[in-house]
Amino acid sequence: MNAPTLSSPSSAGKASASKHRLETGPFDGSCRLRDSSVLARHSAGCGAEENSPSASPVKLTCFPVGGLTPFTTVDFPGRLAAVLYTQGCAWRCRYCHNAHLWPFEPAASAVPWEKVLDFLDTRKGFLDGVVFCGGEPTAHAGLGRAMGAVKAMGFEVALHTTGMYPERLEAVIPLCDWVGMDVKSPFDRYEAITGVARSGENPQKSARLILQSGVAYEFRTTAHPDLLSESDLLEIGAALSRMGARHFALQAFHAEGCVDDSLKRSARPGVPLSAETRSALASLFSTFTIRH
Ligand code: SF4
Repeated sequence: MNAPTLSSPSSAGKASASKHRLETGPFDGSCRLRDSSVLARHSAGCGAEENSPSASPVKLTCFPVGGLTPFTTVDFPGRLAAVLYTQGCAWRCRYCHNAHLWPFEPAASAVPWEKVLDFLDTRKGFLDGVVFCGGEPTAHAGLGRAMGAVKAMGFEVALHTTGMYPERLEAVIPLCDWVGMDVKSPFDRYEAITGVARSGENPQKSARLILQSGVAYEFRTTAHPDLLSESDLLEIGAALSRMGARHFALQAFHAEGCVDDSLKRSARPGVPLSAETRSALASLFSTFTIRH
Protein backbone atom coordinates (compact mmCIF):
# COMPACT_ATOMS: atom_id res chain seq x y z
CA MET A 1 0.00 0.00 0.00
CA ASN A 2 1.00 1.25 1.12
CA ALA A 3 2.05 8.78 0.59
CA PRO A 4 4.54 11.92 3.39
CA THR A 5 2.40 14.33 2.49
CA LEU A 6 -0.05 11.69 1.89
CA SER A 7 1.17 8.17 2.19
CA SER A 8 0.49 5.19 0.11
CA PRO A 9 1.92 1.75 0.66
CA SER A 10 4.86 2.69 -1.47
CA SER A 11 5.27 6.19 -0.21
CA ALA A 12 7.92 7.85 1.82
CA GLY A 13 5.26 8.56 4.41
CA LYS A 14 4.67 4.92 4.84
CA ALA A 15 8.38 4.24 4.81
CA SER A 16 8.77 6.71 7.59
CA ALA A 17 5.84 5.25 9.40
CA SER A 18 7.38 1.80 9.25
CA LYS A 19 10.14 2.97 11.55
CA HIS A 20 7.60 3.47 14.29
CA ARG A 21 5.58 0.31 13.98
CA LEU A 22 4.23 -1.11 17.17
CA GLU A 23 5.44 -4.67 17.21
CA THR A 24 3.85 -6.79 19.84
CA GLY A 25 5.11 -10.26 19.16
CA PRO A 26 3.64 -13.28 17.44
CA PHE A 27 0.34 -13.13 15.64
CA ASP A 28 -2.53 -14.81 17.42
CA GLY A 29 -2.55 -18.31 15.96
CA SER A 30 -6.33 -18.46 16.02
CA CYS A 31 -6.39 -15.84 13.31
CA ARG A 32 -4.06 -17.56 10.91
CA LEU A 33 -5.09 -17.47 7.30
CA ARG A 34 -5.38 -20.75 5.52
CA ASP A 35 -4.00 -20.12 2.08
CA SER A 36 -1.46 -17.61 0.94
CA SER A 37 -2.12 -17.80 -2.75
CA VAL A 38 -5.84 -17.88 -3.40
CA LEU A 39 -7.83 -14.88 -2.36
CA ALA A 40 -11.16 -16.64 -2.43
CA ARG A 41 -9.91 -19.18 0.06
CA HIS A 42 -8.13 -16.50 1.97
CA SER A 43 -11.47 -14.83 2.48
CA ALA A 44 -12.58 -17.83 4.49
CA GLY A 45 -9.98 -16.98 7.11
CA CYS A 46 -9.59 -14.22 9.69
CA GLY A 47 -12.32 -11.62 9.70
CA ALA A 48 -14.08 -13.18 6.75
CA GLU A 49 -17.52 -13.74 8.15
CA GLU A 50 -19.14 -10.66 6.75
CA ASN A 51 -17.98 -7.66 4.83
CA SER A 52 -20.95 -5.44 5.43
CA PRO A 53 -20.60 -3.52 8.69
CA SER A 54 -24.31 -3.52 9.34
CA ALA A 55 -25.36 -6.94 8.13
CA SER A 56 -23.78 -8.93 10.94
CA PRO A 57 -23.92 -8.31 14.67
CA VAL A 58 -21.05 -10.77 15.18
CA LYS A 59 -18.13 -9.11 16.88
CA LEU A 60 -14.91 -9.17 14.89
CA THR A 61 -12.43 -11.17 16.95
CA CYS A 62 -9.46 -11.00 14.63
CA PHE A 63 -8.25 -9.00 11.69
CA PRO A 64 -4.85 -9.42 10.03
CA VAL A 65 -2.84 -6.33 10.95
CA GLY A 66 0.80 -6.64 9.91
CA GLY A 67 1.97 -3.45 11.60
CA LEU A 68 0.77 -0.29 13.26
CA THR A 69 1.99 3.29 13.17
CA PRO A 70 0.81 4.95 16.37
CA PHE A 71 0.79 8.51 15.02
CA THR A 72 0.81 10.21 11.65
CA THR A 73 -0.04 13.68 10.43
CA VAL A 74 0.32 12.89 6.75
CA ASP A 75 -1.74 9.82 5.91
CA PHE A 76 -5.23 11.22 6.55
CA PRO A 77 -5.66 14.78 5.30
CA GLY A 78 -6.27 17.24 8.11
CA ARG A 79 -6.40 14.53 10.75
CA LEU A 80 -4.10 13.13 13.41
CA ALA A 81 -4.27 9.39 12.92
CA ALA A 82 -2.88 5.94 13.54
CA VAL A 83 -2.16 3.64 10.61
CA LEU A 84 -3.02 -0.05 10.44
CA TYR A 85 -1.17 -2.08 7.80
CA THR A 86 -3.22 -5.07 6.73
CA GLN A 87 -1.34 -8.24 5.94
CA GLY A 88 -1.46 -9.65 2.42
CA CYS A 89 -1.40 -8.43 -1.15
CA ALA A 90 -1.99 -10.31 -4.40
CA TRP A 91 0.16 -7.97 -6.50
CA ARG A 92 3.93 -7.63 -6.71
CA CYS A 93 4.56 -4.02 -7.64
CA ARG A 94 8.21 -3.53 -8.48
CA TYR A 95 8.50 -0.41 -6.31
CA CYS A 96 6.64 -1.83 -3.31
CA HIS A 97 8.06 -0.78 0.06
CA ASN A 98 6.18 -3.40 1.97
CA ALA A 99 7.19 -6.77 0.63
CA HIS A 100 6.91 -8.19 4.16
CA LEU A 101 3.16 -7.57 3.85
CA TRP A 102 2.80 -9.61 0.64
CA PRO A 103 2.14 -13.04 2.20
CA PHE A 104 -1.25 -13.67 3.69
CA GLU A 105 0.35 -15.47 6.58
CA PRO A 106 1.07 -13.34 9.64
CA ALA A 107 4.41 -11.48 9.59
CA ALA A 108 6.76 -11.14 12.54
CA SER A 109 5.41 -7.61 12.96
CA ALA A 110 1.79 -8.79 13.28
CA VAL A 111 -0.37 -7.06 15.86
CA PRO A 112 -3.34 -9.06 17.20
CA TRP A 113 -6.63 -7.26 16.59
CA GLU A 114 -7.37 -7.26 20.30
CA LYS A 115 -4.13 -5.32 20.90
CA VAL A 116 -4.99 -2.91 18.12
CA LEU A 117 -8.28 -2.13 19.85
CA ASP A 118 -6.56 -1.84 23.23
CA PHE A 119 -4.10 0.62 21.74
CA LEU A 120 -6.82 2.68 20.06
CA ASP A 121 -8.73 2.79 23.32
CA THR A 122 -5.77 4.65 24.83
CA ARG A 123 -5.79 7.14 21.94
CA LYS A 124 -9.36 8.34 22.31
CA GLY A 125 -9.30 12.10 22.52
CA PHE A 126 -5.79 12.28 21.06
CA LEU A 127 -6.32 10.94 17.57
CA ASP A 128 -8.97 11.94 15.06
CA GLY A 129 -8.84 8.89 12.88
CA VAL A 130 -7.50 5.54 11.82
CA VAL A 131 -6.02 4.74 8.42
CA PHE A 132 -6.39 1.28 6.90
CA CYS A 133 -3.67 0.58 4.37
CA GLY A 134 -1.68 -2.45 3.37
CA GLY A 135 -0.94 -4.78 1.84
CA GLU A 136 -4.38 -4.36 0.41
CA PRO A 137 -7.10 -3.75 3.03
CA THR A 138 -9.96 -4.73 0.72
CA ALA A 139 -8.46 -8.21 0.36
CA HIS A 140 -10.05 -8.94 3.71
CA ALA A 141 -13.72 -9.73 4.02
CA GLY A 142 -13.69 -8.50 7.62
CA LEU A 143 -12.64 -4.97 6.64
CA GLY A 144 -16.13 -3.53 7.00
CA ARG A 145 -16.48 -4.81 10.52
CA ALA A 146 -12.97 -3.73 11.45
CA MET A 147 -13.81 -0.24 10.23
CA GLY A 148 -17.13 -0.39 12.06
CA ALA A 149 -15.37 -1.27 15.30
CA VAL A 150 -12.99 1.66 14.88
CA LYS A 151 -15.82 4.05 14.08
CA ALA A 152 -17.75 2.83 17.12
CA MET A 153 -14.77 4.02 19.20
CA GLY A 154 -15.28 7.51 17.82
CA PHE A 155 -12.55 7.59 15.18
CA GLU A 156 -12.89 8.68 11.58
CA VAL A 157 -11.69 6.20 8.98
CA ALA A 158 -9.41 6.58 5.98
CA LEU A 159 -8.71 3.86 3.44
CA HIS A 160 -5.65 3.51 1.24
CA THR A 161 -6.40 1.07 -1.54
CA THR A 162 -5.36 -0.05 -4.97
CA GLY A 163 -8.98 -0.66 -5.94
CA MET A 164 -8.13 -4.32 -6.44
CA TYR A 165 -11.53 -5.54 -5.17
CA PRO A 166 -14.29 -3.16 -6.27
CA GLU A 167 -17.15 -5.11 -4.66
CA ARG A 168 -15.51 -4.96 -1.27
CA LEU A 169 -14.59 -1.35 -1.78
CA GLU A 170 -18.19 -0.51 -2.58
CA ALA A 171 -19.31 -2.21 0.64
CA VAL A 172 -16.97 -0.20 2.87
CA ILE A 173 -17.06 3.22 1.19
CA PRO A 174 -20.01 4.31 3.37
CA LEU A 175 -17.74 3.83 6.39
CA CYS A 176 -14.89 5.86 4.93
CA ASP A 177 -14.31 9.55 5.59
CA TRP A 178 -11.51 9.66 3.02
CA VAL A 179 -10.13 7.30 0.39
CA GLY A 180 -6.71 7.44 -1.26
CA MET A 181 -6.46 5.19 -4.31
CA ASP A 182 -3.23 4.28 -6.05
CA VAL A 183 -3.35 4.35 -9.83
CA LYS A 184 -0.40 2.27 -10.91
CA SER A 185 -0.30 3.07 -14.61
CA PRO A 186 -2.66 3.58 -17.53
CA PHE A 187 -5.42 1.09 -16.73
CA ASP A 188 -4.63 -1.16 -19.71
CA ARG A 189 -0.97 -1.57 -18.74
CA TYR A 190 -1.01 -2.45 -15.06
CA GLU A 191 0.74 -5.76 -15.54
CA ALA A 192 4.09 -4.12 -16.20
CA ILE A 193 4.05 -2.79 -12.63
CA THR A 194 1.91 -5.26 -10.68
CA GLY A 195 3.06 -8.44 -12.42
CA VAL A 196 -0.57 -9.57 -12.72
CA ALA A 197 -2.38 -9.82 -16.05
CA ARG A 198 -5.38 -7.52 -16.59
CA SER A 199 -4.94 -6.10 -13.11
CA GLY A 200 -6.06 -2.63 -14.23
CA GLU A 201 -9.66 -3.65 -14.86
CA ASN A 202 -10.83 -3.69 -11.25
CA PRO A 203 -9.05 -0.45 -10.30
CA GLN A 204 -10.88 1.28 -13.15
CA LYS A 205 -14.19 0.10 -11.69
CA SER A 206 -13.08 1.15 -8.22
CA ALA A 207 -12.13 4.63 -9.38
CA ARG A 208 -15.63 5.06 -10.77
CA LEU A 209 -17.16 3.82 -7.52
CA ILE A 210 -15.14 6.31 -5.51
CA LEU A 211 -16.16 9.17 -7.76
CA GLN A 212 -19.82 8.17 -7.70
CA SER A 213 -19.88 7.74 -3.92
CA GLY A 214 -19.23 11.36 -2.98
CA VAL A 215 -16.53 10.36 -0.46
CA ALA A 216 -13.51 12.67 -0.14
CA TYR A 217 -10.68 11.14 -2.13
CA GLU A 218 -7.37 11.43 -3.86
CA PHE A 219 -5.91 9.41 -6.73
CA ARG A 220 -2.14 9.11 -6.69
CA THR A 221 0.56 7.60 -8.83
CA THR A 222 4.13 6.69 -7.92
CA ALA A 223 6.45 8.05 -10.59
CA HIS A 224 9.60 6.15 -11.51
CA PRO A 225 10.99 6.96 -14.96
CA ASP A 226 11.79 3.29 -15.68
CA LEU A 227 8.15 2.37 -15.15
CA LEU A 228 6.18 5.39 -16.31
CA SER A 229 7.14 7.96 -18.92
CA GLU A 230 5.81 11.50 -18.85
CA SER A 231 3.49 10.44 -21.62
CA ASP A 232 2.18 7.64 -19.38
CA LEU A 233 1.61 10.12 -16.56
CA LEU A 234 -0.33 12.38 -18.89
CA GLU A 235 -2.38 9.40 -20.05
CA ILE A 236 -3.22 8.48 -16.45
CA GLY A 237 -4.17 12.07 -15.67
CA ALA A 238 -6.33 12.39 -18.77
CA ALA A 239 -8.14 9.12 -18.06
CA LEU A 240 -8.89 10.15 -14.47
CA SER A 241 -9.99 13.58 -15.55
CA ARG A 242 -12.38 12.11 -18.13
CA MET A 243 -13.88 10.00 -15.36
CA GLY A 244 -14.52 13.17 -13.35
CA ALA A 245 -11.60 13.06 -10.91
CA ARG A 246 -10.60 16.41 -9.44
CA HIS A 247 -7.77 15.45 -7.13
CA PHE A 248 -4.54 13.82 -8.28
CA ALA A 249 -1.04 13.52 -6.87
CA LEU A 250 2.29 12.25 -8.14
CA GLN A 251 4.56 10.80 -5.51
CA ALA A 252 8.26 10.12 -5.74
CA PHE A 253 9.72 6.65 -5.71
CA HIS A 254 11.67 5.99 -2.50
CA ALA A 255 14.20 3.22 -2.35
CA GLU A 256 13.68 2.34 1.31
CA GLY A 257 12.07 -1.08 1.55
CA CYS A 258 12.05 -1.67 -2.23
CA VAL A 259 13.34 -5.11 -3.16
CA ASP A 260 13.98 -4.31 -6.85
CA ASP A 261 17.67 -3.38 -7.08
CA SER A 262 17.47 -2.22 -10.69
CA LEU A 263 14.78 0.32 -9.81
CA LYS A 264 16.84 1.53 -6.90
CA ARG A 265 19.90 1.99 -9.11
CA SER A 266 18.08 3.95 -11.78
CA ALA A 267 15.99 6.11 -9.46
CA ARG A 268 16.34 9.86 -9.57
CA PRO A 269 15.45 12.14 -6.68
CA GLY A 270 11.91 13.48 -6.49
CA VAL A 271 9.50 13.40 -9.41
CA PRO A 272 11.41 14.38 -12.55
CA LEU A 273 8.86 16.18 -14.70
CA SER A 274 9.09 18.74 -17.46
CA ALA A 275 7.39 22.08 -16.97
CA GLU A 276 5.05 21.24 -19.85
CA THR A 277 3.88 17.95 -18.33
CA ARG A 278 3.48 19.53 -14.92
CA SER A 279 1.40 22.32 -16.38
CA ALA A 280 -0.71 19.95 -18.49
CA LEU A 281 -1.49 17.75 -15.49
CA ALA A 282 -2.24 20.72 -13.27
CA SER A 283 -4.76 21.96 -15.83
CA LEU A 284 -6.76 18.74 -15.55
CA PHE A 285 -7.48 18.85 -11.81
CA SER A 286 -8.69 21.14 -9.06
CA THR A 287 -5.78 19.95 -6.94
CA PHE A 288 -2.62 18.51 -8.41
CA THR A 289 0.17 17.73 -5.97
CA ILE A 290 3.74 16.55 -6.42
CA ARG A 291 5.29 14.86 -3.41
CA HIS A 292 9.05 14.42 -3.32
S1 SF4 B 1 2.58 -4.99 -4.08
FE1 SF4 B 1 0.63 -4.62 -3.03
S2 SF4 B 1 1.25 -3.54 -1.14
FE2 SF4 B 1 2.97 -3.39 -2.54
S3 SF4 B 1 2.65 -1.40 -3.64
FE3 SF4 B 1 1.70 -3.07 -4.88
S4 SF4 B 1 -0.44 -3.08 -4.29
FE4 SF4 B 1 0.69 -1.96 -2.67
